[in-house]
Amino acid sequence: MSATATEAPVKIRQTKLLINGEWVDSASGKTFDNLNPATGEVVARVAEGGKEDIDRAVLAARRAFDDGPWRTKFSSRKRGELLYKLADLIEKNADELAALETLDNGKPISETRYADLPLVVQCFRYYASLADKIHGEVIPVEGKPGTMFCYTLREPIGVIGQIIPWNFPLLMAAWKLGPALAAGNTMVLKPAEQTPLTALRLGELITEAGFPPGVVNIVNGFGETAGDALVKHPGVDKIAFTGEYKTAQIIMANAAQTLKRVSFELGGKSPNIVFADADLDQAVKGAMAGIFFNQGEVCCAGSRLLVEESAHDAFVEKFAAAANARKLGDPFDPKTEQGAQVSKEQFDRIMSYIEIGKKEAQCVAGGERFGDKGYFIKPTIFTGVDNKMRIAQEEIFGPVVAVQKFKNPQEVTRVANDTIFGLAAAVWTRDISKAHRIANEVRAGTVWINCYNTFDSAAPFGGYKYSGMGRELGVDSVYAYTEVKTVWTNLR
Ligand code: ADP
Repeated sequence: MSATATEAPVKIRQTKLLINGEWVDSASGKTFDNLNPATGEVVARVAEGGKEDIDRAVLAARRAFDDGPWRTKFSSRKRGELLYKLADLIEKNADELAALETLDNGKPISETRYADLPLVVQCFRYYASLADKIHGEVIPVEGKPGTMFCYTLREPIGVIGQIIPWNFPLLMAAWKLGPALAAGNTMVLKPAEQTPLTALRLGELITEAGFPPGVVNIVNGFGETAGDALVKHPGVDKIAFTGEYKTAQIIMANAAQTLKRVSFELGGKSPNIVFADADLDQAVKGAMAGIFFNQGEVCCAGSRLLVEESAHDAFVEKFAAAANARKLGDPFDPKTEQGAQVSKEQFDRIMSYIEIGKKEAQCVAGGERFGDKGYFIKPTIFTGVDNKMRIAQEEIFGPVVAVQKFKNPQEVTRVANDTIFGLAAAVWTRDISKAHRIANEVRAGTVWINCYNTFDSAAPFGGYKYSGMGRELGVDSVYAYTEVKTVWTNLR
């Protein structure tokens, strides 16, 4: 631990790599500093995996898939039982996991304990319940009945490399591991370098739950080294990635060399559309949750707020008042609503967008850092935005929202779709027909009507256009971790 290390409010039990069921140092012996974003101080030194560690982890996952008991002794029902056991263990250790996540990411404890953790538990339970319901079909084929029997099987793809981001570290691990384990794959999970801690504690619970060695391997490290090696490894059958679209472009190109399957959950610039006939107080609450939840570090954040002209001024007044009243500060204070941005790099990036915004539009709330320690940024609202401006087109991934006016539903649909992204959208109105017309016309993977950021493990989530490829959650995610095999039998 470095000289600047402080006493963490939660014990960090694990900092090594999980390979083949064992906790090991990296082959190079290297570690990297793990910071608390609320203070900028080092709280742990974490084993830094590189190519050699990825090789070992992939070999372990390969052996577990090809030769281990996972495929022969662990029926789908048994895999479900293990997932239920894991969910129970996570629930039992939820206070500790929530505190670790808050320490690592900077998000408030009220959120990690009452949003992230319950969703993680729900996710593993949902996929536990699906594990023994993954099956093929009997296919009616040409010819006289009884002469040909054709059926499909849904088989696991094999070894999956799962690369996850830092905004919901444990939840993203659950979204990836839950369906892939239910389907019978083996994994090498590469958490984000900013947030390595909760995945490691999860690794301990996975071992405790009784998953055989090598089924889940966890290698922390950097994207350009560990992540890159995973994407290029010939022993990996699929890469499932969540992060920036620019990283996905690199991953897609690298994965092409070995024709890996890929699925991507990427960024967004989601339009949050408020009509004048909406319940404005409800819409203000939704706009607050839409952009400021999780410090704005949310791929589906409602970062473009499109407000009907006649309601614009009244809406903005209420919205700015709510933003200014938001409680920022110590992420471990249960009353805190908004914590720290994840890292200095992210903080600097958001602040540079705020400077761009000040040149392009009018700042009516926030626009500056909060306090002088850690990476806190005040909820920031820009008005007078044109959809062509950079703050309306580029993903900021912070507590910054660009407000635009619109005159009618035709105009708002055009503006809503005028983006490279298509992850989510929301509509606030009392006119249910109008809401559903917009829902049909907007090119986005999720549309919320009179709500925002609602999630359920059963509801598919993913993006159109530059926002992704494939769907997470729901049954769709299990399909993304299976190959379909067609079997023909001649009965004559
Ligand atoms: P951000 O820039 O916000 O950190 P990224 O998309 O770069 O988002 O990171 C998401 C995940 O992708 C992290 O786990 C990171 O280490 C990983 N990553 C970054 N670059 C690469 C790469 N070239 N190949 C594989 N993984 C990468």
